[in-house]
Amino acid sequence: MRALLPYLALYKRHKWLLTLGVALAIVTLLASIGLLTLSGWFLSASAVVGVAGVYSFNYMLPAAGVRGAAIIRTAGRYFERLVSHDATFRVLEHLRVFAFSKLLPLSPAGLARFRQGELLNRLVADVDTLDHLYLRVISPLVGALVVIAVVTLGLSWLDVTLALTLGGIMLGTLLLLPPLFYRAGKPTGEALTHYRASYRQQLTAWLQGQAELTLFGASDRYRDEMEASELAWHEAQRRQAGLTALSQAVMLLISGVAVVLMLWMAAGGVGGNDAPGALIALFVFCALAAFEALAPVTGAFQHLGQVIASARRVTQIVEQKPDVTFPDASQSAPENVALALNDVAFRYPGQTEPVLRGITLDIRAGEHIALLGRTGCGKSTLLQLLTRAWDVSTGAITLNGERIETFSEAALRAAMSVVPQRVHLFSATLRDNLLLAAPEARDEALRAVLERVGLEKLLEGSGLNAWLGEGGRQLSGGELRRLAIARALLHNAPLLLLDEPTEGLDAETEKQILDLLAEVAKEKTMLMVTHRLQGLMRFDRIIVMDNGEIIEQGKHAELMASKGRYYQFHQRL
Ligand code: ATP
Ligand code: MG
Repeated sequence: MRALLPYLALYKRHKWLLTLGVALAIVTLLASIGLLTLSGWFLSASAVVGVAGVYSFNYMLPAAGVRGAAIIRTAGRYFERLVSHDATFRVLEHLRVFAFSKLLPLSPAGLARFRQGELLNRLVADVDTLDHLYLRVISPLVGALVVIAVVTLGLSWLDVTLALTLGGIMLGTLLLLPPLFYRAGKPTGEALTHYRASYRQQLTAWLQGQAELTLFGASDRYRDEMEASELAWHEAQRRQAGLTALSQAVMLLISGVAVVLMLWMAAGGVGGNDAPGALIALFVFCALAAFEALAPVTGAFQHLGQVIASARRVTQIVEQKPDVTFPDASQSAPENVALALNDVAFRYPGQTEPVLRGITLDIRAGEHIALLGRTGCGKSTLLQLLTRAWDVSTGAITLNGERIETFSEAALRAAMSVVPQRVHLFSATLRDNLLLAAPEARDEALRAVLERVGLEKLLEGSGLNAWLGEGGRQLSGGELRRLAIARALLHNAPLLLLDEPTEGLDAETEKQILDLLAEVAKEKTMLMVTHRLQGLMRFDRIIVMDNGEIIEQGKHAELMASKGRYYQFHQRL
């Protein structure tokens, strides 16, 4: 239950709207009870009057009352739905934005802990489930309590014993059944949440991995696993539905017993009258109608287990502390960038061995550096430390003499253009995929930059409106690289960080791109990770890494002369 507290607190934001919703729900319930009670009494009273031959019966007032109650019930229900759903959606909107805003700074370190499908599931399905809390639990519960109080008080004007009996039965039902069904529904609710999550996650994996699964003939096995979770999920749903049916049956039984009891007791006299007449009908119909108010409550508590499980899962995301935080205010982005790494070491969370060790490096403003090294030696990791995807374990990185931790996120991002090793293509238009890097850029600028990187072919057909990614044109590996370079050019920052920008390009295009990069980086600082040995002469310095350490650095000619690792790389060509 405690898992729900933070979510209950969220409701405070819309407390008036929510209170109005509950108030309308109560008005509707009372109108509904009033309608049945009054009309029951009215019909039998008219009959009794007819039999007795008394003709001075005022039928106008009760008739108007019945009509009034019917109208209030209809209007009340309409506005209650309107108000309570509106309030719930507002709370959900806030909750979803809140959860998402907590998710953003977690990237990428914190997000790695959740699988993608899992994350989406929490953000969508679990947040949705939390809407039960108000609509299905709080509102009906408060409504039922008020109805019990009003009915008991109202009936006690006529007969205290009857009123207390009915009130007692209702209160007893309300106190007994919900906890019972909460207990009974809890394991099923948790199972439902669990299987729903694992099914969705398997489905996403299956859809995304189609090609591999088919190629390696693992498709059927995956399908079987998925079907097993689906069956388990259905089984949980079946059990949940069985419980719902049971709770309704028990409710119906209790209400039937209460009605019979009322009939029996009222027949013996109401309020000291020996001949209660039409009042019998009043009590019977009142009992019948009042139990309607209780009906949703047991069902609600049965779902509470599911709500709590979802709340826990959302809380797990919300309570994550980002590993990397940025100050809000800082100096603005610099014009030129000099970088210094001072005895930097880095270890990925959960790993025992550091990936980088004792990296000390001074990069002057305007210097062009190539970073070489065997696969897995930590080159990309080093770049990621510069973008603060991760923070150093020990040591310090400074940008123009200031520690990079002192820059706001906006200033740091404005200081560097990055071409990452894995380029992400958004499922959006070509224009959107480029505007990401420079939201203000005009179409002409976008076209020009595409031409510069040799991607003018993409402009054929629908031009910048061409849809890329999922549901659109997939780009080849080389096109993707060039798109990333186009983004970096548009971003136009003083520091260029390039992670194997020419990977997957043919020798001709590679040369073009390297020429282009050399030209645009003329006034900029550039750090380029590469596996290619061609064209390294033009770099001011070449740094060779191995096993997380810098093992040699210098100009091409110097490194060739010293016959170290760089020389060996060339020998192997
Ligand atoms: P390549 O030339 O193949 O791109 P690289 O030099 O860029 O290699 P990195 O990507 O920096 O290598 O990885 C360095 C080491 O850190 C590798 O052994 C890799 O498995 C490990 N590593 C990378 N990312 C993570 C991570 N998120 N968590 C744990 N270990 C990681
Ligand atoms: Mg790499």
